[in-house]
Amino acid sequence: METISLYIHIPLCVKKCAYCDFASFSGRMAQRARYVQAVCREIRTQAAFFGRRQVQTVFLGGGTPTLLTGTQVQAILDTVRACFDLADDAEITMEGNPGTLTMENLRAYRLVGVNRLSLGVQSLDDGLLAAIGRIHTSREAEQAVRMVREAGFDNLNLDLMLGLPGQTAAQWEDTLKRAIALGPDHLSCYSLILEEGTPLFDSVQAGTCAPLPDEDAMEQMDALTAALTRAAGYAQYEVSNYARPGRQCRHNVVYWECLPYLGVGLGAHSDMDGRRFYNPADWEAYLHMAEGGETTREAEGENTREDRMFERMMMGLRQVRGVDAARFARDFGARIEQVWPVTVAQITRGGLMTSNQERICLTPRGMQVMNGVLVHLMEEMDSKPQNRA
Ligand code: SF4
Repeated sequence: METISLYIHIPLCVKKCAYCDFASFSGRMAQRARYVQAVCREIRTQAAFFGRRQVQTVFLGGGTPTLLTGTQVQAILDTVRACFDLADDAEITMEGNPGTLTMENLRAYRLVGVNRLSLGVQSLDDGLLAAIGRIHTSREAEQAVRMVREAGFDNLNLDLMLGLPGQTAAQWEDTLKRAIALGPDHLSCYSLILEEGTPLFDSVQAGTCAPLPDEDAMEQMDALTAALTRAAGYAQYEVSNYARPGRQCRHNVVYWECLPYLGVGLGAHSDMDGRRFYNPADWEAYLHMAEGGETTREAEGENTREDRMFERMMMGLRQVRGVDAARFARDFGARIEQVWPVTVAQITRGGLMTSNQERICLTPRGMQVMNGVLVHLMEEMDSKPQNRA
């Protein structure tokens, strides 16, 4: 039976950041225990339906999972162990906000089995941190890294953001150098995506905050990211992700490879046995569903074969190692170059793509124009009569 990954969403935050449109809420700490119980109930409900699968990675994401006590994390992981076969070498990640850590909780998380911490540092510039509404300072972020290490975690990721309002290449260079000096095992460097409906979106639109960096500045920041991470021994393995040898995030690789995962908790998405489904993102609706032993798993239909093939390319090409071509052929009964004969031939000739029997990937130049490549793949797929709706 196929192994799965488990995503568990903890939608609690101290305060909403100005750019955040994730399913997370401030002011719900009083309902924390109830939420944890609902999550445990949902894990049992889903396991009763899908059976006792082997779980290879668990990711407690948020929100701010480090707002949970060690006992609450233990309750969740004990439920996972009771309902699934959690692999002995499972990667168990927990996301955390540097403004919420205590030594007591960190030690407890480690003791109950969490073996990877992912800290949302975002920037080490206090002005930028304040501008985007983070609850912590750069000093607190640096202190958080020391606490995580002291608690015994030997697998640590730092999330950083570039493209923040008013951010200069020099500021990014300073943040990245200081982050690297902290010695994380993994770095995620995400470009800000300005989401409509967030306070930051409104400020940028209204011109009440510093302007976003222009294209030249973004190119400089990207170049700095590539140079500084490489010089420090991190290998890029995905568009935004860099790791020391053997420290890639196994959980995120599951998404990029389009392997099965079960999402538990408010707003969580799942891809199980060829079915897509997601939970309500509304607090009361989710609790009502989970506490009642119900799920939304039947609510979503199956994606078409074409949707799945395109998604396999879109996600896989994000990885430096590209798409598993052999698995693609096995799963869809056709090789990638048979599905997209024109595009694959053109972009390969143009030096944007390369392949062998095993995998098909974009070259560094291809990675820079990935969106254009995807548009061509989409257009070729849509142009085939059998693929038109
Ligand atoms: S801590 Fe994370 S999830 Fe919470 S509001 Fe900020 S960005 Fe959103």
